Amino acid sequence: MMSNPNFHYREFKDSYLFSTIYRRTEEYLAAHPGAHVLNLGVGDVSLPISRSVIQALHAAVDEQADKRTFHGYLPECGLPDLRKAIAGHYERYGVSLAPEEVFVSSGAIDDIADILALFDREGSALVPEPTYPAYVESNLIAGHPIKYMESGKEDRFLPLPAPGLQADLIYLCSPGNPTGAAYDREALKTWVDFANRTGAVILFDAAYEIFVSEPCVPHSIYEIEGAGSCAIEICSLSKTAGFTGMRLGYTIVPKDLTREGMNFNAMWTRDRTSKTNGVSYILQKGAEAVFTEQGWKECLENIEAYHRNARVLMEALDEAGAWYCGGKNSPYVWVQCPDGMDSWTFFDRLLNEYQIVGVPGEGFGKCGREYIRFSSFGDPENTREAARRLKKVF
Ligand code: PLP
Repeated sequence: MMSNPNFHYREFKDSYLFSTIYRRTEEYLAAHPGAHVLNLGVGDVSLPISRSVIQALHAAVDEQADKRTFHGYLPECGLPDLRKAIAGHYERYGVSLAPEEVFVSSGAIDDIADILALFDREGSALVPEPTYPAYVESNLIAGHPIKYMESGKEDRFLPLPAPGLQADLIYLCSPGNPTGAAYDREALKTWVDFANRTGAVILFDAAYEIFVSEPCVPHSIYEIEGAGSCAIEICSLSKTAGFTGMRLGYTIVPKDLTREGMNFNAMWTRDRTSKTNGVSYILQKGAEAVFTEQGWKECLENIEAYHRNARVLMEALDEAGAWYCGGKNSPYVWVQCPDGMDSWTFFDRLLNEYQIVGVPGEGFGKCGREYIRFSSFGDPENTREAARRLKKVF
């Protein structure tokens, strides 16, 4: 008897996005030794973990060295104190959550894939175009039919439900990657009402919530009335607190979310207790420090440094007359390539003529073909120099 593989892996397209960017940059450097190439492509944080968190991590390491304070297995869904601290964090945004609605994870990408266990395989997933690739890839693996929702300059990359739209699972990422665009309350309410009316469930990716700077933009979907009965929110400390290499996130599954008599909070609790033994004690203690007043203040100081970089880029693009979105509530600035150029041609022009590296929008889907993603995660002086060069490009 033969064991069949998951044939859906055949549907994967090889992603050459970052390897191609790397190769072309290396080739340029090899041909132009000493060239000062400025990288605006980075999607990873560059500032280290803040002081309060580091102290908490050290203290937790020491606890593990002492028989009296040592911790073995922990509750699968997260340390009660951390779940409480995260629920407390939502109070900052006027959202009231029970700690049992908060689930600690090893990062947003893990739960983006794992949460699909709660949904019927036949259910379709609606994914925005352009998109963060994990939504597509996790649905391919799970075998869900995928529908794409196109977006562009006309809707500022913030699509709304089209007439006749049908979907079981809806992915919304706000502030978005790659576009940096963020839904305001009114637009998000349209999605919440749509989901409640049709029975769809929204998977709201809030990985960049700490970057929100405009009062009209919610940090959490639960700031919108009615979201508790139709949305799961996935978040992460990766960008919030520089945890990309540490790995800790959290997912909110409200107790009010039910479909066909089944409760998603109860199902997710059951799923976690079956599939994970939780996240490292040390990391969870570090994460707890993020949500203290001092810890949050330190995170915001780092985010302000990224915001400053974004402002430098936006000012240069304004001066150059380029069209872009993002930047205000996001580390990403999503820029239209000049003269209808496609994103790889523009990538090459930026690299060869201005020694700037961006991420070609095509890598995030066909609606990104004429756009390039710049990020504000880089070094401030390099960002200023890149901005000076960008003024001459458009
Ligand atoms: N969601 C979005 C939109 C992201 O851009 C990223 C990472 O870049 C993630 C999720 C993954 O976050 P994590 O590092 O917590 O897995």
